Amino acid sequence: MKVEQQQHTNNKQLVVLGGGISGTGAALLGAQKGYDVFLSDGGTLSSAFAKALQEQSIPYESGRHSDEKILIANLIVKSPGIPDNAPMILEAKAKGIEVVSEIEFAARFTEEKIIAVTGSNGKTTVTSLIDHLLTVAGIEHTTGGNIGKSFAQQVYEGKSAYRLLEVSSFQLDGISSFKPHIAILLNITPDHLDRYEYQFDKYVASKMRITMNQNENDFLIYNTDDPAITKAIKNANIKAQLIPFSMEKELERGAYLHNNKININTHNSIFTMPTEQISIKGKHNTANAMAASTTAKLLQIRKETIRQSLTSFEGVEHRLENVLKINKVQYINDSKATNVNATYYALDSMEQPTVWIVGGVDKGNNYKDLYSLVNRKVKAIVCLGTDNSKIVEAFGNCVEQMVETSNMEDAVRVAYKLATAGDNVLLSPACASFDLFQNYEDRGRQFKNAVRGL
Ligand code: ADP
Repeated sequence: MKVEQQQHTNNKQLVVLGGGISGTGAALLGAQKGYDVFLSDGGTLSSAFAKALQEQSIPYESGRHSDEKILIANLIVKSPGIPDNAPMILEAKAKGIEVVSEIEFAARFTEEKIIAVTGSNGKTTVTSLIDHLLTVAGIEHTTGGNIGKSFAQQVYEGKSAYRLLEVSSFQLDGISSFKPHIAILLNITPDHLDRYEYQFDKYVASKMRITMNQNENDFLIYNTDDPAITKAIKNANIKAQLIPFSMEKELERGAYLHNNKININTHNSIFTMPTEQISIKGKHNTANAMAASTTAKLLQIRKETIRQSLTSFEGVEHRLENVLKINKVQYINDSKATNVNATYYALDSMEQPTVWIVGGVDKGNNYKDLYSLVNRKVKAIVCLGTDNSKIVEAFGNCVEQMVETSNMEDAVRVAYKLATAGDNVLLSPACASFDLFQNYEDRGRQFKNAVRGL
């Protein structure tokens, strides 16, 4: 009844679908901006989010979506987890209700410059590195989006000079005016295709939306080695200034690798730095570092500050994270590697003989791409999963020693025995974690605890 009464008193009826991090942020921001807000979550709401809503007297429901409370909205903010073709969304659109993503909603109340990072892999690493660069440079900013605090929550909490955001394709699907001053497009490889009618082009188009509202005063930093990106850029009418980065070729403008140094050429000045001085290792991380420091350079951060930041960045937990050295064996946690592509780069960056812990829930992996790396870099394999048959079949002939385990403590203990001074022990599972763990974070933490317990 309350909702119906509100309908007559305020034509700013906002319904938020999904009560996770972004939904709760959008609800709080909406209430602050004078909307009558109703939040509906089909599952259960965490107690922290329920409390946040109660404190602001925002009505909500959980465990269902009530048509009569939702379809009266003027505007719906949809959480990224809800697909565009969900029945409730189709019905709302058919009624002419505008449906947007939380980043679009937050952008409507944002005057600050936005720096937005997207791509299939590396978003969190690059966002965290830019965050570090801005922090070391003393530039006021807030960080979040697809990680950490939602964009709406950042706007709700007050002003800042810059908004640094990690954004996913699902978030970009629901934008109409979201406009980053600097957009970063890292790579596009097949992912989440179930949400794009199994058409890669549709997924690419979604990622390209990051630049659709940019103008001549904005910048698009992009990976020019990525064929999907270069093709899409060629076919689009992009207004932003294009700043490419490349691991493969020298460029007149942008960032590239030359003699094991990164070179970044913007504003008619060149920043160079040997890759060996960059704290995060591996080719993919060199590319990530180039993308992040190109951003820093566009913001006119001093070269010395960029250098210092690239040296001191500690990386992100669970992404090629150095854990401990025990008896001259380095233990590395890459639990976030839940697909073959991520593990490819992890193995590629190994410079010592490696005992590789791999396995979990196989999402239809094709391990072929890893054969040559495994032959060159891996001395022994520890399988970690409830069903290791695909791993055994794929790599049984590549290594001399292979041991099957079904819990982290055993896996680490076996790896400890197989490794000798100068080796690495790498957890890079190439698989999802939920056969034995709650999620990849739980898997990574269990790994670190087991290593510390050796
Ligand atoms: P995202 O936020 O896009 O999932 P992360 O930075 O969390 O990306 O990294 C996810 C996984 O991908 C990690 O295993 C990491 O080592 C790997 N990775 C990081 N950057 C890249 C890149 N540029 N290309 C390919 N893989 C990468």
